[in-house]
Amino acid sequence: MPSYVSTSKIDRTLTDVLVVHCSSSRFQAGLHDFLNQGLNLRGNYDLLVIPGGPQSLTLVEYLPKFSWAGWKWFRYLVEAHDLKRLILIAHEDCGWYKALPLHLHTVSEPRERQEEDLRRAKAKLTKEFPHLRVELYSAAWDSSARVRVEAM
Ligand SMILES: [Zn+2]
Repeated sequence: MPSYVSTSKIDRTLTDVLVVHCSSSRFQAGLHDFLNQGLNLRGNYDLLVIPGGPQSLTLVEYLPKFSWAGWKWFRYLVEAHDLKRLILIAHEDCGWYKALPLHLHTVSEPRERQEEDLRRAKAKLTKEFPHLRVELYSAAWDSSARVRVEAM
């Protein structure tokens, strides 16, 4: 293929929204729908996609270099783009969590571990960036395998 020309045009509207979610391929299309139709963002948001998503913001002691990189990227986006709204999304059956030692959390149930991390991340973010509105979501799938996202 010599080149590909999208039907989408460059979006020059500045955004004040950053979304952080996991890399899992299973959720990408569903999360795209949630952000663009559910939250009506219409593709106009910054996006940070990394394994475990917002979990990277809580790893200061366990993986300090990984945490440092996550915070570096995060601070850059918040400051350079003057962000006001942050959307953190965890998801069911996250492989990243399966690889994490249990001692990092006060609970062992996967969903509760994710909730604990989202609350930790929100507390730290609210302290460091009091002007940011932080929203927490959890994605899973229903009996028809449709991606379902709910606020936490
Ligand atoms: Zn994941």
